[in-house]
Amino acid sequence: MLNAREMMINRRDMLRFGAAAGVTALGAGEAFAKAPLVGKQSPTFYRFKLGNAEATIISDGVLPLGDPHKAFLSIKSEEIDSALSSNFLPLDNVPLEQNTLVLNTGDKVILFDNGMGVSKLFGDGTGKLLQTMRAAGIDPADIDIVLMSHAHIDHCGGCVGADGKPNFPNAQYFISELDYNFWTDPTKTGSLKPFLEQALRNLPPIKDRITWIKDGMEVAPGVHAMHTPGHTVGHMIFMIENGNDSLAYIADVCHHPILLLERPRTEFAYDTDPHQAMQTRLKVLATLEANKTKLLAYHFAWPGIGHIAKAGDGYRWYPAHMDAMYVSPI
Ligand SMILES: [Zn+2]
Repeated sequence: MLNAREMMINRRDMLRFGAAAGVTALGAGEAFAKAPLVGKQSPTFYRFKLGNAEATIISDGVLPLGDPHKAFLSIKSEEIDSALSSNFLPLDNVPLEQNTLVLNTGDKVILFDNGMGVSKLFGDGTGKLLQTMRAAGIDPADIDIVLMSHAHIDHCGGCVGADGKPNFPNAQYFISELDYNFWTDPTKTGSLKPFLEQALRNLPPIKDRITWIKDGMEVAPGVHAMHTPGHTVGHMIFMIENGNDSLAYIADVCHHPILLLERPRTEFAYDTDPHQAMQTRLKVLATLEANKTKLLAYHFAWPGIGHIAKAGDGYRWYPAHMDAMYVSPI
């Protein structure tokens, strides 16, 4: 029986402990069981009940945004380093997840945002949506409604495939007209040129199926849009209510659980208007905190569901547990 002090042994002590007890590593021929390494990731989806609806979060993969010192403004470099390192996060890259949502109400199948599509602007780790959706038992042809929070490459990049044809052939699409016009303007140039090119590739081919989202509009049964400008001019979040449950789909109001949630006054380089985005973030987060609303953050660590509570000048993230006992609500 080990006492508490002996339980706190480090790895070097552990090896010494094993040697002293006469334990040796097994040779390959002595293994009781062995198998080749699988060497690939499993499809990443997670299912849970939302009122009377079935919700499935489907990852489009992780998007490596790059150097945090270039992405986060109005915060000192050493403060970024200390905030990231004390949360065991890398100092040379910001990994952003892409947590898309499929909500099946029984009458409608609604997809919230659609990832990077075939674009490899952020490497090979993205563009998993269709493959994983099929693995989750959802046929892209069964999607009735595609809601888009905004026209950035990682939210509308999956509207069409490599052949330019719609990936969701039977869907109605929803986006704000402000965002559509801003990001499909062929005369625009600048550092976000690849974003403009992807919007132009993805949105005009489905234009005849688009309904423009207005602030407060019910875009799908029990789903209301809220105009939350700053990240883009027409950025929308979606407040979902079903039965006795609710979920706020906050899209890109907050990209990072430390640098933009614990420090919500930080400005983000990918915002069209970083100052307005900061003001919007403060307003939205205060409302979610006051109402204790469960939220889904598109770019937080998988699967991005949780709550926020006040902590210092900002908010702390409380990720939700997995529902391992999920059964169909209907
Ligand atoms: Zn995004």
